[in-house]
Amino acid sequence: MQSRVQIQVRGIVQGVGFRPFVFLLAHKQSLRGRVLNNPSGVLIDVEGDARAIDCLVTEINSNPPPLSMIASVERISGLAPAHYADFRIVESTPGAERSTPISPDVAVCQDCLQELFDPADRRYLYPFINCTNCGPRFTIVEDIPYDRPNTTMMDFPMCRDCRSEYENPLNRRFHAEPVACAECGPRVYLSDSEGNPLSASGDEVFAQCRAFLNEGLILAVKGLGGFHLACDALNSAAVERLRGRKHREDKPFALMADSLNMVRRYAVISDAEEKLLLSRARPIVVLERREDSPVPRSVAPGVNTLGFMIAYTPLHHVLLKSLGKPLVMTSGNLSDEPICYENDSAVSRLSAIADYFLSHDRRIHIRTDDSLTRVIEGIPVMLRRSRGYAPAPIKTSVKFDREILACGAELKNTFCLGRGNYAFLSHHIGDLENFETLESFTRGIEHFERLFSIRPTVVAYDLHPEYLSTKYALALDDSLDKIGVQHHHAHIASCMADNGIEHEVIGVAMDGLGFGSDGRLWGGEFFIAGLSHAERIAHLDYIPMPGGANAIREPWRLAAVYLQRAFGDRFVDIDLPSVKGIDRQMWKTLRSMIRSGTNCPETSSMGRLFDAVACLLGLRNAVNYEGQAAVELEAIASRAACGGYEFDVSPDGRVISALPVIKAVVEDLVEGASREVVSAKFHMGVANLILRVAERASDQHGLKGVALSGGVFQNALLVQATTRLLTSSGLKVFTHSRVPPNDGGISLGQAVVANARLKLGGTN
Ligand code: ZN
Ligand code: ZN
Ligand code: FE
Repeated sequence: MQSRVQIQVRGIVQGVGFRPFVFLLAHKQSLRGRVLNNPSGVLIDVEGDARAIDCLVTEINSNPPPLSMIASVERISGLAPAHYADFRIVESTPGAERSTPISPDVAVCQDCLQELFDPADRRYLYPFINCTNCGPRFTIVEDIPYDRPNTTMMDFPMCRDCRSEYENPLNRRFHAEPVACAECGPRVYLSDSEGNPLSASGDEVFAQCRAFLNEGLILAVKGLGGFHLACDALNSAAVERLRGRKHREDKPFALMADSLNMVRRYAVISDAEEKLLLSRARPIVVLERREDSPVPRSVAPGVNTLGFMIAYTPLHHVLLKSLGKPLVMTSGNLSDEPICYENDSAVSRLSAIADYFLSHDRRIHIRTDDSLTRVIEGIPVMLRRSRGYAPAPIKTSVKFDREILACGAELKNTFCLGRGNYAFLSHHIGDLENFETLESFTRGIEHFERLFSIRPTVVAYDLHPEYLSTKYALALDDSLDKIGVQHHHAHIASCMADNGIEHEVIGVAMDGLGFGSDGRLWGGEFFIAGLSHAERIAHLDYIPMPGGANAIREPWRLAAVYLQRAFGDRFVDIDLPSVKGIDRQMWKTLRSMIRSGTNCPETSSMGRLFDAVACLLGLRNAVNYEGQAAVELEAIASRAACGGYEFDVSPDGRVISALPVIKAVVEDLVEGASREVVSAKFHMGVANLILRVAERASDQHGLKGVALSGGVFQNALLVQATTRLLTSSGLKVFTHSRVPPNDGGISLGQAVVANARLKLGGTN
C-alpha cells in the first residue's frame, strides 16, 4: 500500500549527520520524498510503500547516528500524495519555533585523525579538519537553525573541493557545517607577546611552537572554547614561571597528553577513568599521580592527583605530535577573570604571561572552559560541566509546566533553563565577582534563550541578597514569577534531579557557605527534603566567622575560634606548632570582634570545619584558592582503616557540636600522632556522624534514601567512607554524577524546586 507520511524528529538531530542517515535509509527502502532541518529538528516528508516507511521509522528509533539524541519521533499521516520523483535532502527552513538543541563540541574523531596524519590526504596536518561526527558546535553557533551561515564559519566561503564534499550525501562531510581545508578554511598564525605576527606559516608554525615549548617558554594557544596557557609540563622552571606570571600560587594546573599511553606514564588509570578520558567530551579527569611520575610537584602542589585530558582538537594533536611529553594547559586568564576567547583581548590581557601566541582566525562565539571530572566510588562525577557537555540538555523525570530560568549561585556559577522534561544547564560561567563574568552570565542567558526559544515566565534565585545572580533575578521584569530557593535545599534537589528521583529523602548538604533561611551562613545541614520542601532536622552548631570573607581566606581564624570554644582562652598555651603560629595580637583583635559581634557572621559550615582541622594539622594558615585546605587535608589522609572522632549530638538530635572532635585532634597531635592518621580519623568521624544522623532520621521518618550534595562531597575519601557506611546499614545513597555537587549544580536544583512549588500552587 502506498502512503505519504511526515515524520518530525526532535532532539539533538541537527549537525550530527541525521539527514544523510535518513537519505541512505530512504534509498535502501526505495522511498521518495524530502528531508530537511526545520526549527523543531528534522522533518522527513516521505512517500512509498507503507511497510517500508514503518521500517524507516524503526531504524530511526533504534539506530540513530552516534552524536544524535532523539527526544521524540512524531508521525503525521493521511496526507495527499505529493508525487515526489526521488528522495532529496533540501535546504533548511528558517522559522518561528526554533527549539532544536545544539550539540556540544565534539573531540576530533578517529577517521579525521587518520586523515590528519596521512601525507597523501589533502588535509594532511590541517589543524581544523572535522566531519559530521566531530568538531566545533556550541562554541561557534550564533543562531539556529544550525547551518553554516549561522556559525562563525560563515567567514570562510567553501572552496570547490570542500563544497562538493559538503553537498554529497554519501560523503562523510555531507553538511558538516564547519567543513574546511587549508585552501578555504581558518588558518593558524604565530605572534609575539605584543601580537606582532611572526613570519612562520603553515607547518612551520607548529615546528616553531614546539621549539619554544622545548626552550621552556610559555605559549598562549587558541583552542575550541578559548585560549590556554601552555608550557612543557616536565620543565619545572617553566611551570614556576607560569605560576608567577599568572599569579596562581598553588591551584593545580591541568595537563594535556596526546594519548592514553602518555597519560599512563604519569598517572594511574582505572577502566572508568579510561572511558572518561577517551569520551567524545574529553574532560579533564582527576587521576591518582604515579609515585614515580616525573611531573614536577609545582604542577599540582599539595595533592597527589594530576588532572589530565587527552588532546581534543586537531590543532592540539598537531601541536603535541612529536613533542613526546605532556603540556600544562591551563585556562588563559588572569587569576579570577573568565577565559580569554577573542584574539585582540587575549593579546592585551595575556601579553604579560605568554611569550608567544599560537592563534587562528576562526572566531569563538561562546567561551567555554574545559570540563573537570573525577571518578569517585566508580562513578564519574562532574566537578565542572562545560566544554563537551554544555549545552546538551539534562533529561529530568519531572516536567517543567512553565518555562523557567534559574540564576544559580555566586561561585562556580551556572544558570539553567527548564522546559518540558529538559533542563538546559549552562556551561560553567565562573565566579560572579567581576564585570567580565557578570557580562558572560547575562549574555549567556540571552544566548540560551534564543538558541532554545525559551521565554521564561518564572525565575528562581538564591536567598543570598548579595549574590549578583540574585540581584540580576530581582531586577528582572516584575511580570515574572520570582521564587527564592534556599541554597542547601537547591543542592539536595539538584542531587535528586541528577538521580531522577522525586520521593522524599534524607538530605545531607555539606559545603562552604550558603545563605540560610534564618539569615545565618549554613553549610553543615541535614534535611528531610522533597523537591518542593526541605525541613532542616539537624545542623553543625554555629560558630562566629571573625572578619567574614577574610575568615575563608585565613582558616587559622576558624581554628582559633574552635580552639577557644573547646579549651577556653588558655588554648594559646597548647604545645603545638600550629597553635604557636597563631598571631596573638591578631587573635586579640578578633576576640574583641567576636565579643562585640562586629563583622562576625555565624556559620554552621562543614567546609569551614575542614579548614580549621587542616590548619590545626599545620597544613596551612591561609588559602590561595577556594577549598585548598580541605583538598590538602584529603590528600594527606592515611588510607589505612581507622576509627573516627566522635561529634556530640544534642539530645533532641538537632544540634551537632564539633568541639569533642577538635579536642581529640589536639590530644592526638600533642601525643605525637601523625597528621596522616589524624586526617583519616577526622574523615571517618564526619562519615560516622552522617551515618548516625541519617539512621535516626530514617527511624523517625521511615525514609531509606540519603542524598549527598555540596562542595564538601567533591572529597573522594569522604564520599567513599560515607557511602560504604550508609549502604551497609541498609540505606540507599544518592550522589552526583551528571551535575556537580558543588555550586555549579545549584541552578538545576533551583529550577526543579521552583517548578515543584508552582505545581503546589505557591511560590514560597
Ligand atoms: Zn571527524
Ligand atoms: Zn576547502
Ligand atoms: Fe553551596
